Order: sequence, then C-alpha cells, then structure tokens
Amino acid sequence: MSGAVSASTLPWLGAGLAHTLTRGRAHHALLVHGPAGVGQLDFALELARAWLCEAPRPHACGACRSCHLVAERSHPDLRVIVPEALRAEAGLPEEGAAASDEGKKTRKPSRAILIEQIRAALEFSNLTAARGVHKVVVVHPAEALNAVAANALLKTLEEPPGAMRFVLTSGDAQALLPTIRSRCQGVALRAPGREEALAWLRGQGVAEPEPVLDACGGQPLRALELVRAGLDAAVWRQFPQWIARGESAAVAGWPLPVLLDALQKLCHDHALAAVGQAGRYFADVGRVGAGPGTGLARLTEAAAWLRAQSRHADHPWSAALATEALVQGTRARLQPPHPTPQNLHPNTTQSLRP
Ligand SMILES: [Zn+2]
Repeated sequence: MSGAVSASTLPWLGAGLAHTLTRGRAHHALLVHGPAGVGQLDFALELARAWLCEAPRPHACGACRSCHLVAERSHPDLRVIVPEALRAEAGLPEEGAAASDEGKKTRKPSRAILIEQIRAALEFSNLTAARGVHKVVVVHPAEALNAVAANALLKTLEEPPGAMRFVLTSGDAQALLPTIRSRCQGVALRAPGREEALAWLRGQGVAEPEPVLDACGGQPLRALELVRAGLDAAVWRQFPQWIARGESAAVAGWPLPVLLDALQKLCHDHALAAVGQAGRYFADVGRVGAGPGTGLARLTEAAAWLRAQSRHADHPWSAALATEALVQGTRARLQPPHPTPQNLHPNTTQSLRP
C-alpha cells in the first residue's frame, strides 16, 4: 500500500519534488513520468499534499488538517482517479463498500479508468474549493485512460477552472495520446541507481535486497512490495529448484502476474545458461539446468507459451488451478523433448483458458 512510503521518503524523488514545488507558478496540468515503478503516484500525491497544505511554505508541513486529510485520502479538494484494481495501492477504500462479498468474488476489478470516473472528476473540478485555494485531481496512471475517457478529459485539461490542478502520472509516456501529452507540462522522474535503491530497501528493513531488486529490474518500490508479499531473497533463490521439481505448493498463493513474471525470468535465465552465460535474475540457474538437451528452440517455445498464458493472468476463476498449470506447464517445457511419463502432468498441455 502506497501509504507506507511517501515521496518524501523516496530519496531519488526529493530533488525533483523540490524543483517542481519551488519553480514558481505551477502549470495547471502536470505529467509526472519516468520508468515504471519509480514512485509516480507517491510523487503526485506529495505534490497534491503540498498544494493543499495550509502552512505557508512550498513543501507539505505534514502536520496541518489538510495534510492529514490528504494522507487519509479524504480531503474534499482532492480526487485520486485510479483503475478499480489499483485502489488499494493508492490507499483508497474499496469502491462501493455496500457491495456484497459475493459480488466482489465474481467481478474482476477493472484495470482501466472509466469514463464515469472522468465525468465525476470534471464535475468536481467545477465545484468551489471546500477548504482553500486549490483543488487537485490525480490521474494514475494516464495510460489506463481509454480513448473515450481521455477525450472527455482533454478540454478541461487545456482550460481547467481557476483553482484546478491536474497531475497525470505515466510509466510509459510515449504510449499516451499526443493530445494528452501536449496539454501537460512534463515532470521527468529519474530512477535510483542500484546502490541508492539497495540502501533504501535496507532502510525499509529488507535484510538482503539484492536478489529481489535484480528480479524487479531495479525497481525498488516493486521490490519492497514483493518482499512484503513474502517473496524475499531466500524464496527467490529456491524458485528455480521448485519449478524444476514441479513444487507448485511452494508458490501457492503468489499473485498470478508475479508468478508468471518469475517464470518468464526463469525461462530467460535458462536460455542464458544454455549458451554458457550467468543468469540475470537467478544467479545460479546454471546449476539447476533445464535438462540436458533442452536446447534454445525449446526454451524459446517455453517463453512463447508463458507469454500466451500471461494474456489470461487476471482470470479469477481458479488461482490454484492456474498456479498448478503454470508450474507444471513450465516444468515440462524446460525438460528435454520426449519426456518420460513422470515428467508429464495432466495439466501440462492445458491452456489456462477453459
Ligand atoms: Zn500541511
């Protein structure tokens, strides 16, 4: 949950934050962009907190009523617009607390920002500020806006009502509509260096951050999230063996996108090992081996199979079944061709799609 860290505790964002807050009159629409996972949402919320703060200084004081309300996501002059699937990450309460538990189980949370959300934000932008001068709408991430929602936002983004400020975030600004990009002033966030990220993770209580940080492609926030979900260095080291032995119980309960990502990285490293190179994510993958004679062609096929499965990774219908199919399917594909009967598992050829 984002509430546990804030931009003020992410050292690599500090200089950019200070610059944005002190460079004079802020543009009414900012696009906070950078490599995925450097803290775009934290940065945007910190800007909102500073603008709404009641103390007379550029940075948020952290002590006034407004600062508390922003921290609780209940400030009347702030709207945080995220896909339903990201509400918890953004520190927002679940939508429609009245919805029955039964309803939650059967409906998959949306990964898109819907037109109704943008309409509500535009209505909000026409209201008078409840507490002070500014009103802020945070849209995270802007690439989750579908074309209809993006178009609905365009006009207001160009000429927002007086007190209104928009902060859009993006981990892939090039993927946004040029019309969105051109209406915003860009704020580029930098990724931390490896040593800086490792030091920060140690400061968050992660004892051995190296394997997890590497597994996340150097994204420290993602690494912290994985460690908090139980995927620490020890787990990461054992992963290649678990898969080689088909131990799906060891990864039971992992979020499917995380498992898929890990399996894809494992496949990648087996391919490196097959040409005599060290693994990038799993240092000693060469010792586990993909089975003599597996060959690059078969590893490529395994990677393609995993990519196909990843298109269905959000399926809620049976996480346990999907985990089993993924582990056994990957294991079988990492074996040499013509597997012995004990290498075959009933699920190995089965797609996750029913
Ligand atoms: Zn304050």
